[in-house]
This record gives sequence, structure tokens and C-alpha cells, in this order.
Amino acid sequence: MNSERWRITVQGVVQGVGFRPFVYGIAVELGLTGWVMNSPQGVTIEIEGAPDALDVFATRLRDELPPNAVIDQTCVRPIILVGDTDFEIKGSESGGVKTALIPSDLATCPDCLREMLDRDNRRYRYPFTNCTHCGPRFSIIQALPYDRANTTMRDFVMCDACRAEYDNPLNRRFHAQPNACPDCGPQMALWDDDGNSLAERDAALSAAADAIWDGKIVALKGLGGFQFIVDARNDSAIRRLRQRKGRYEKPFAVMMPTQAHIQQTCAVSHTEWRLLLSPAAPIVLLGRTNGEIAPSVAPDNPYLGVMLPYTPLHHLLLAELGFPVVATSGNLSGEPIVTDNAQALASLGGIADLFLVHDRPIARHADDSVVYIFDNEPVTLRRARGYASAPVHVDTEGVELIAVGAQQKNTLSIAHHNHAFVSQHLGDMDNAATLDAFTRTLSDFQTLYDLHPAAIACDLHPDYTTTRLAERSGLRLIRVQHHHAHILSGMAEHHLKTPVLGVAWDGTGYGTDGTLWGGEFLRVDSEGFQRVAHLAPFRLPGGESAAREPRRCALGVLYALYGDDLPRDRLDFTPKEIEVLLTALHNQLNSPVTSSMGRFFDAVAALIGLCHRSSFEGQAAMLLEFAQHTVSHDECYPFNITPVTTEEGGVGYIIEWKAIITTLLRETEPAVIAAKFHNTLAAIIVDIAQKVGEPAVLLSGGCFQNRALLEKAVTRLRKAGFTPFWQQHIPPNDGGIALGQIVAAVKEMRHVSGSTGENNQYQR
Ligand code: ZN
Ligand code: ZN
Ligand code: FE
Repeated sequence: MNSERWRITVQGVVQGVGFRPFVYGIAVELGLTGWVMNSPQGVTIEIEGAPDALDVFATRLRDELPPNAVIDQTCVRPIILVGDTDFEIKGSESGGVKTALIPSDLATCPDCLREMLDRDNRRYRYPFTNCTHCGPRFSIIQALPYDRANTTMRDFVMCDACRAEYDNPLNRRFHAQPNACPDCGPQMALWDDDGNSLAERDAALSAAADAIWDGKIVALKGLGGFQFIVDARNDSAIRRLRQRKGRYEKPFAVMMPTQAHIQQTCAVSHTEWRLLLSPAAPIVLLGRTNGEIAPSVAPDNPYLGVMLPYTPLHHLLLAELGFPVVATSGNLSGEPIVTDNAQALASLGGIADLFLVHDRPIARHADDSVVYIFDNEPVTLRRARGYASAPVHVDTEGVELIAVGAQQKNTLSIAHHNHAFVSQHLGDMDNAATLDAFTRTLSDFQTLYDLHPAAIACDLHPDYTTTRLAERSGLRLIRVQHHHAHILSGMAEHHLKTPVLGVAWDGTGYGTDGTLWGGEFLRVDSEGFQRVAHLAPFRLPGGESAAREPRRCALGVLYALYGDDLPRDRLDFTPKEIEVLLTALHNQLNSPVTSSMGRFFDAVAALIGLCHRSSFEGQAAMLLEFAQHTVSHDECYPFNITPVTTEEGGVGYIIEWKAIITTLLRETEPAVIAAKFHNTLAAIIVDIAQKVGEPAVLLSGGCFQNRALLEKAVTRLRKAGFTPFWQQHIPPNDGGIALGQIVAAVKEMRHVSGSTGENNQYQR
């Protein structure tokens, strides 16, 4: 018979998702011989047989992929015949460039759930049940390729029954690396805050459920870290959690026992259900209807962050309780989520009453991801569990890079082999614990992918902790303007190559002129950016502290408008405080100039009495967004656009907002003012887009977490004939900055290599 042998290499998410047994199944069915194995690049197959059968094999490989596998690239080439007599699954190969992708943690699959609820199954009520379709991956992997010896399961020796499943290519648990059962796998225990064990195994779960029922706060060791669990119906218990955590008003997410519970509380669209039930199982922000959720869970908020149980442990606990619980990251405010039992006792002891722990170590932290659906697509506000391991395709041109991100809500990123890997959410870089997580995550990336960076990218802000870290690295330094990075981040995720008008609106970022930017329109192309328009600047009395005090932003805005004769009755300051701040403004002391849209939002929220001081970042803007929730209004406030000459000598525009403020100060209804204010901003975007004339308009920056603003801007842009883009899988907030820095740095390195005529200096 005329046989051929092919060597097929497959890259993508092909490890830990049942890919090899899938290949094995097809090969055996078609009577083909050869082997399949995991490699640091992905999966390698050598397959031999009749050419027709090989063609069928290749087609089925593509068309019948297991549910959680993703193929990025397949390479097929004919090789010399070997004459194998059967098809086998070989052990893993190591060596070569590491391009395999870390698989994500996957929510419990229906088969595993069924087994756990079956009294006659050996995994009945076992909280660490998993298979190749579900279970931990990202949170337990210590090295690639993904084999048990490279995970935190390495010290659990499989019993005979588990081993038999693991070795059988036709079993659902064939090479399921975290495979375990009650006889050989991890177990849980309930501890008091001194670490004394109060109960073990199933008794620990019942005791924890009793405590939650009683209004206690339980720190539960979940998949990517600890969570605080509290009865979501118990207002005083939630208030106690807020008090102890120092998180006074920021909304909490809830975990619902069943879909029926969600239905009783929220309005859920088809797309939202799909997301809630997906293997990533994120927190989805849903429109609230009613239900039994205590007011302190998400005060005055028309949305509720909701998720379903995603591990067997969560399923068992929520089934035992039968009511929704608050499930929030087990951390101190702004710090990374805690992953280690001892560390949990040490740092969460003052908050939790009890600890429901287990002995499967967490290799890598991951908070619950937070998304909402807009225009049938997710908008990711916090990117972590279930999503963080997926890279963005960026043409890295053979260069390896590190990007350190911004300061708040930080992530870091690396460029490696035509991928930008963006880390899971890390946190605010002003505390030592986040700095620690940053360092760990960076060395994690360097080890996993054997990285040899040619340069390091950071923000232009001289005082960011990340900038200082980058400066100390000894690597070639590339500084990237903050808002340029926001727009490049959006362009990277949408693979936009042509010029765009970038609308970068956020709190603040350091501008090329040394002032604080944040209400920017940047024309971005492959050469760089021009600042084509921005909000007319005002001063922020008190500088950075204005971010926590919207009343200071209001003062700055009124001062720009009226000088010393500003209407004092609109400001929540004592007469003496006003005098001090006016003197500072007058002398331009500690009152930096800003064009920030975020601070402008704050000013308006304060001027109409919604928020004078905020207890968390973005609170004032959120209250302004929610204020307009109940009214539908199409009107806008008047505004002026003044042409100016840009730094580069081109035409630019200043957005004069004086008429907006003077008009809204004469009105009284906060809901109407809020609606008209949002409309006005959307109209401004369209006006500038028409003046600049780029067909593609990209919206990024923290202000576009606001779905009213996003929706109004997208609607008006489409109506005016533009193609709007916005961030979906990478956050519009500063969690997206690292990706933008990578893109800018790749371009910068190309310029360098282009000018010296040498391309190979960055290759290993
Ligand atoms: Zn499963
Ligand atoms: Zn076992
Ligand atoms: Fe920003």
C-alpha cells in the first residue's frame, strides 16, 4: 500500500484540554499509526497511513476540536516513513522555544457535577473533583509542558483507581493532571483564626455553612486565592465585613446557588447567560430587578455583579446554604488576593471569623474576572481567572520585551514569539504586597517562557513605582505616554493597522508637556501619535488628592470659570477651607493643570451634590452614570470647539466646556443633568471625529468603563457614519496599559534596528 507519514505541529491551547486523547481517538478510528505528544510549543503528532485517511484525519483535527481547545497554528509536513504498528500517546518532550499556552482554570463540567451528586459514585461530595474538561490549570501550573509533575498536585500520589483513569486514553480523566479522589487527593479543613482545626473533610463544609448561616465571615480558599464569604441577605454581617475590610461603599459581587436565584434578582439576556455558564464563569454585571439581596451589597447601584459556583467546593457550599453569598477577593484593600494558608491567617485574621482551607497549593493568584455585556460582546473590567492566560497576537518581530504597566489596577505584559501575554490583575502598586506579586509574576513569565528581554517599557510618569522598577532593571528603557498606550492597547486587541482617532479619557496620565492629561483625542498611526484635541484645562487644588475629593475638582472647574468670585454655595467646603484653596489656586501652588475627563466627571458629580468625597476610585463618575439611569433624554448642553495649532504644527482643537457648566448650574434635576451631560460628551466625540476625519474611532481609558457613556458614544458615532471600536477583552482602565506599552516598544525597537540596518542584535 502506498503510505505517507506526516509530522503535524499544533500551537494554541492544546494542553490540559483533552487534546491528545482526541487525536488518539481519531487516529485509532481511521486505522492510522504513529504517536502524539505534548511539547513546549504545543502538541506534536507523527501520523502514518493512506493519503486519503491522512486528509480525513487533518480535516477532523480542525473540525471536531474538544470544547476548550483553541488552535492558533498548524504546520504539516511530510516526513520519511517509519512503519509504526499502532498509535500511541507519548510522554512529553522538553526543550526548544517555549510557545505552548497555559490553559485557563475551567468551571466544573456537567459530568463532574453529576458524579459529585451521585451517592454511589466514589467522588460523591468530593470538593476537588475534575477531569480533562474542567478544573484547575492556570492556578496550579508551575512549569511547562503541562504535566502533573509540573503542577502543585505533584505531591499527591494517585491511588490505583485514579491512576487507571489517568492512563486510559478512552477515559474522561486521561492525563487530567489534577485528577484526584477522596482516597488520594486534597482535603479541606475548617480553622479558627489561630489556625486550630475545628473540623475536617465534609464536616468542615457543614460547619462552615452553619457559620455563614449565623452571619459569620468565612475566608474560603478557592481556585485562584481566598474569598470572603458572607450571607448576601444579612445586612449587618455585610456591614461588619465592610468595616473590617475598610471597604465602605464599593459594590460587592455575589455568588448565586442556581440559575433560578439569578432569575429572581436580575434581568439576564441570552449573551449574559452564555457568559455566566461559560468555562471562565466570570462575575457578570447584570441589571437588577429585585430579590433578597441586602442593600449594603451594592448600595444605590442598578447593577449587581453575579457569578455561579465554578469549583466543586463552591457547588457543595452553595447547595448546602441555598441562598446567595457575597464572594469577594480575600485581600486588604488594593492588595493582591491571598493564596497561602499561613499568609491568610496572618493577613486576613482581623477580617474573617473562620477559614475554610485545603491542602492543594495555589501556584499563581487570580481574582474573579469582572465583565459586562455591551452590544452582545463582553467588556472586561478586571481580567483574571478564566481569561488571563490567553495572549493577544502582536507581531513582535522577533523581539522579546517586558512592559511594566501603570500604577493603579496594574498588570504587566511580556512580548514573546508573536504573542503579548498580559498578566492577571495585580492591584495598586503603592503597597508592598502588590509589588511582591508584581515581582513574582514577572519571574513567573520569565521562567515559563524562558524570556530574554531586549528592552523594558514603562509609563512616562516619573513617579510611578513601575517606572522606577523599569529604570532599575538595567535594560534598555522605552517610555510610553499613558494615553498613547491606552489607544495602542485597543488597536492591538482589534488588530487595527490603519490610523485611528483615539479617544483616551481617564483619571490622569502624565502628558508629554508635563501636565496631567486625561481628556485626550489622539490620532494614532504606525509612526506615533498627535494630540489633536483635548479638554480645556483646569487646575486641581491639592493635586493627586483631588482624585479622592470630587469637591476639589468642582472648585478647580468653578475657579477656571469665575475666578475668585465663584459660587461658593455649590461647594462642600467651610469658608476657611475655600480661602486656603483659593490662595493656592491663585499662586498656582500644589494645583497642577489637567485636561482630565475623569476629574471633570468628578467636578460635575460634586456640583450637583451627588458626591463630594469618594470612598473608592471612580465612585463619583459611577453615581453620575447611575443618576441618569431612570431618564431617557436626547438633549445636549452647548459647548465650543476652538481650533489651535498643535505642538507638531498641525491643526488641533480645544474643547471649551464653560457653557456646559454655566448651563447645568441653572438646572435642578440631577437625573436630567446627568443624562444631558453624558449626551454632551458623546456629541463632543462625534464633533471632533468629524473635524479629524478618520473613519475608525477607538474609545479607551477608565471613563469608558461607564456603559452609559460607551453606549451613547457608540450609538452617535455609528449614526454619523464612523466605525467605533472599544476595549472588550483587555480592560479600558489602566489594566490595559501594559499591552499598549508592548506595542509601542515593538515599534520603537523596529525604528532602532531600521536605523542601524541591523536586525539580528535582538535575536538569541
Ligand atoms: Zn469535569
Ligand atoms: Zn484517587
Ligand atoms: Fe489611564
